[in-house]
Amino acid sequence: MTILLGCIADDFTGATDLANNLVRAGMRVVQTIGVPAGPLSAEVDAVVVALKSRTIAPADAVAQSLEALRWLQAQGARQIYFKYCSTFDSTPEGNIGPVTEALMDALGCDFTIATPAFPDNKRTVFKGYLFAGEVLLNESGMQNHPLTPMTDANLVRVLQAQTRRKVGLIDHVAVARGAEAIRERIARLRAEGVGIAIVDAVSNDDLLRLGPALADMPLVTAGSGVAIGLPANFGLAPSSAASALPAAAGLQAVVSGSCSLATNRQVQHFIASGRPALAIDPLAIAAGVDVAAQALAWAAPLLASGPVLVYSTAESGAVKSVQGRLGTEQAGAMVERTIAAIARGLVALGVRRLVVAGGETSGACVQALGIAQMQIGPQIDPGVPWCHALAEAAGGEGLHIALKSGNFGTDDFFTKAFTVPG
Ligand code: ADP
Repeated sequence: MTILLGCIADDFTGATDLANNLVRAGMRVVQTIGVPAGPLSAEVDAVVVALKSRTIAPADAVAQSLEALRWLQAQGARQIYFKYCSTFDSTPEGNIGPVTEALMDALGCDFTIATPAFPDNKRTVFKGYLFAGEVLLNESGMQNHPLTPMTDANLVRVLQAQTRRKVGLIDHVAVARGAEAIRERIARLRAEGVGIAIVDAVSNDDLLRLGPALADMPLVTAGSGVAIGLPANFGLAPSSAASALPAAAGLQAVVSGSCSLATNRQVQHFIASGRPALAIDPLAIAAGVDVAAQALAWAAPLLASGPVLVYSTAESGAVKSVQGRLGTEQAGAMVERTIAAIARGLVALGVRRLVVAGGETSGACVQALGIAQMQIGPQIDPGVPWCHALAEAAGGEGLHIALKSGNFGTDDFFTKAFTVPG
């Protein structure tokens, strides 16, 4: 079994976001959790290997990415896609520059592109400057990010600080004129010694014009947006067959460890709809109460009547107070472990359609459930598809799971999800 497109994503929910875009453009996609130990067993067009390499030491990020590359090459991947965040999360040390450079060296390729543009999510690039919504990246709040503060919106400068290769720009004039003009611009940049070019894109039309110009590139680096223009290069068109999953059955539940604004609204909406919901208290976990066992005992008799919600979701004031008492990381890790144990217990009780809210929380749950890879299905909301996975916790049976990162999804997401046929 050989694949067309091999993708390396630098974080978990980012990998799902990319997979979702590829599926919508007509590819059958599997996302793996880390680099698989053995060969791929599914019949798919693309694989997204999810790493957790965004903020680790550059040398580790390079090593993991090269391991993913070797595995993807062994599956026959004809093109490699390195996926990072649509806000270009990185520091002058990396990891976008060092990983791109290492992949180029390994593939023997002297030119690639770099663009986080994702117009569907209001990330646009113009004259090399990245906008998040209506404002420049460095005015968007990202300048205060705890791990990767983005204080410059000029991506040519940002990337140049991270790489020895010369960084250039394929500007909107070329992109607006189409694939031929983009190819000409690439030829000119190459002649000038440019190795990596930032690409302007302010609309999906820009990305669709860019796609054909990337057909012969061994390596593409981007956010998830560029993915919408690639499947057509392999003769694939959007179709519902790409997102087909095995039929969903079994009990339904939601677990939420996200404290984002959207998730707070989603929890309130679920409660207001009259469905059963249980809040778990981080201070009780810290005091040694077996909160997971209590939650499972609460859920067991309710599951037959429809979806239940178990959540640690709280408003920022309450979260800050808990963090002040327990320490931010300690509180986070403790809550993640508890929610993961609850997810595992719910699946043991027969839950086969599970929604998980929270990026870090999702990582903890997928690990606790013993999931190694997920087939990507239909989209519930932008960036959040239903997935199907074989889970150790389900005795090796199939499980439908949706992983929702913080601010994704409409207010009714937790009820709506179960009305979307998975
Ligand atoms: P998001 O995608 O919204 O950022 P994450 O799951 O990535 O959500 O991150 C939320 C973090 O907050 C997790 O580490 C989680 O364990 C922690 N957390 C969840 N609920 C609480 C709470 N009530 N008090 C303190 N920390 C919490």
